[in-house]
Amino acid sequence: MRNSDLLQRSLKAVWHPCTQMKQHTDAGAGSLPLIPISHGKGAWLHDFDGNRYLDGISSWWVNLFGHCNPRINAALRDQLDQLEHVILAGCTHRPVVELSERLSALTGGTLGHCFYASDGASATEIALKMSFHSWRNRGREKKQDFLCLEGSYHGETVGALAVTDVAIFKDAYAPLIRPATTVPTPDARHARPGESPADVARRAAAGLEQQLERHHESIAALIVEPLIQCASGMAMYDPEYLRLARALCDRYDVHLICDEIAVGCGRTGTFFAHEQAASDGQPFKPDFLCLSKGISGGYLPLSVVLTTDDVYQAFYDDVTARGFLHSHSYTGNALACRAALATLEIFESEQVLTGNKGRAEKIAKALAPLGSHPQVRHLRQRGMILAFDVDSDDPHFSRRFYRAALEREALIRPIGTTVYLMPPYIVSDEEIDHLGRAVSGALAEALA
Ligand SMILES: *Cc1c(COP(=O)(O)O)cnc(C)c1O
Repeated sequence: MRNSDLLQRSLKAVWHPCTQMKQHTDAGAGSLPLIPISHGKGAWLHDFDGNRYLDGISSWWVNLFGHCNPRINAALRDQLDQLEHVILAGCTHRPVVELSERLSALTGGTLGHCFYASDGASATEIALKMSFHSWRNRGREKKQDFLCLEGSYHGETVGALAVTDVAIFKDAYAPLIRPATTVPTPDARHARPGESPADVARRAAAGLEQQLERHHESIAALIVEPLIQCASGMAMYDPEYLRLARALCDRYDVHLICDEIAVGCGRTGTFFAHEQAASDGQPFKPDFLCLSKGISGGYLPLSVVLTTDDVYQAFYDDVTARGFLHSHSYTGNALACRAALATLEIFESEQVLTGNKGRAEKIAKALAPLGSHPQVRHLRQRGMILAFDVDSDDPHFSRRFYRAALEREALIRPIGTTVYLMPPYIVSDEEIDHLGRAVSGALAEALA
């Protein structure tokens, strides 16, 4: 097979996500190439014509330990011969039990109940529904509203769009949505002269406080993406915001939902991003924690919402309708849970978080020269995510950069004019240098 064979068939039969399909058939400045991938190995993706691309974005932020990872492959082969899937209403199985126990242990036991789904948007909706329903079961049915941050992204189903504040995904569907209230973002780029990132966080928290003061009676939960608002352009913020938000939610009886679908699983340096909001030895405790993307190592669709015993007890009752009746056909899929277990085992046995410190330093060093580029703004990094904004008003910048990076054997998809790297945790020093060269070369070409 050659690239061109699959390309034509794909354009005819497959409606690709997050894509204006016409850009795949257009030529010129706004065109978007479609790359047929034949196989992957480690951090590399290969097409049918013998080209290769270093996966600088972990295949949409999901892949942690490379493509066709031998350990995850072996675990899945073993699982295939035991159980592929079983209904999780009324049945249980080893992978789902072991995964739930391990995830709860990673939260220090504070989030001891795991509810499963297959994708991130569903995890968001589960957390929203659970929060609302738990208040209702406790006689607080007025708590029906949600707060989210400006620029937040929590998924694109109609329910998740309610707490997503990204115009390009939301505006067309506005009539279908019951929107949440947005509160100021702690995005450190909004610093006024003389302000530190922690000052921006305090200013944003003051805005949150105003909302809560006035409307807490009707607010069920605040949903945040801890430390980095990824999809709206890798907006990074000071953990002080999380501490202040936690205190305010406690004071006003409002749940705090941490969406760690992108920032969880070691991305920001700690296993959970919210761990970095601990203070004076006191761990940071969300009421709900959403995980997906990296949790299965990038192998299979899986998401999970972890919550407290307090929330769980609000549903535990003789009356069926007071239970949480939400369900998905593939809830707790055995293969996906087994992939997740293999992923967690790699974290432990290979001391991944320690290794990532070195990798993150190497990434910082490789990209540091961009800091003095005249059109680069806000070069920033937290753990295994590095990003910068490009001063360009070219509406085609992102696609120009994408094409130029592909020519340099790298898969990198800017969000508008924000360029970022989010590689898998197995990139070698040479591969990091390769990404660094691809970024500076692609930037020069896209701006030329
Ligand atoms: C990707 C993402 C989602 C949605 O997950 P899907 O699996 O794409 O539905 C939700 N929240 C955050 C923070 C994400 O990055």
